[in-house]
Amino acid sequence: MDKEIKEIFEKGLFKGKIKFNEPMSAYTSLKIGGPVDIMVFPEDPVSLRNALSTANKQDIPVFVFGAGTNLLVSDNGMDGIAISLKAFSMIEVIQNIENMEGWVTLFVEAGVPLKRLINFTRENGYAGIESLAGIPGTVGGAVYMNASSFGTEIKDVLLSIAVIDMKGKIAIMKKEEINFSYRASNLPQGLIILSTNIVLKKDTPENVAKRIKEFLAKKAATQPLKERSAGCVFKNPDGDYAGRLIDLAGCKGMAIGDVEVSSQHANYFINKGRATSDDFMKLMDIVNARVKEYSGVTLEPEIKIIGKDG
Ligand SMILES: Cc1cc2nc3c(=O)[nH]c(=O)nc-3n(C[C@H](O)[C@H](O)[C@H](O)COP(=O)(O)OP(=O)(O)OC[C@H]3O[C@@H](n4cnc5c(N)ncnc54)[C@H](O)[C@@H]3O)c2cc1C
Repeated sequence: MDKEIKEIFEKGLFKGKIKFNEPMSAYTSLKIGGPVDIMVFPEDPVSLRNALSTANKQDIPVFVFGAGTNLLVSDNGMDGIAISLKAFSMIEVIQNIENMEGWVTLFVEAGVPLKRLINFTRENGYAGIESLAGIPGTVGGAVYMNASSFGTEIKDVLLSIAVIDMKGKIAIMKKEEINFSYRASNLPQGLIILSTNIVLKKDTPENVAKRIKEFLAKKAATQPLKERSAGCVFKNPDGDYAGRLIDLAGCKGMAIGDVEVSSQHANYFINKGRATSDDFMKLMDIVNARVKEYSGVTLEPEIKIIGKDG
């Protein structure tokens, strides 16, 4: 596998960095995760397509990641190729949209950090995603996860996405063709988001800045944003909050090894030092069992658990 990948690199069919045996812990907000066989950072769609078709021909598993802020990667690492779209980082205002007075359409590539997009909307006075301020990660990850906060989901402002499949075929999907649900896009397996078109309302930079500031303050007051976490571990069950149920079950502050249930927000598990994926999953099981015992609810993970079993 290394040989084929090295070959496309040497033949000039791949522009970008390639790393071997790269620890995923360096690419996740939890700072947990063993090595992936190969990590690639394609610089353009052609290089991405060449990497995908090489992997596809040889049946090598492919995993695309953004900023790794919703991932729990096994300490045993991952087989195959992890792809970063960091270089897909363009934000552009699309001009000449008919019947759209007062609105603006943006073309945003998947690797753009959500924070950069939020800053762009603040500087230009584009309204609609202020409440997503403070969510870490990339635009690709946000769309894949249908990231949401204070009642707004990223899908609310989405018009369409461009995707590439494992054979390198590119397609446009309109929002209506995507089966979005709470914290999920339910995209068919094997599709990678390349870019998005989103629509925002024109406002003044001052108004947008004010709302962003308010949402950021609310988020900082309720969530442990400065600690190592992957955000909410479990999805909120219908009509309730996972954090409330975990708190009710007396799990705040509970720890296994270096993984601890945050005492600020019980649905955040914190890596206090050298946490392992094993400890993290054990704590998830114990917390889930306690919640089931106290409330009768079985919580569903929101974080994506990936990599090789021990
Ligand atoms: C402190 C903190 C606070 C958070 N607060 C919130 C919150 O308020 N609301 C919320 O919804 N989430 C929150 N999160 C979770 C997380 O930030 C979001 O889910 C974010 O959108 C994930 O983006 P990412 O780029 O880090 O994706 P990753 O974690 O890298 O990946 C997540 C999933 O998306 C897939 N993916 C990533 N990029 C692509 C792509 N280009 N094409 C196809 N699939 C892709 C990956 O394969 C993976 O399955 C928080 C996390 C942290 C650490």
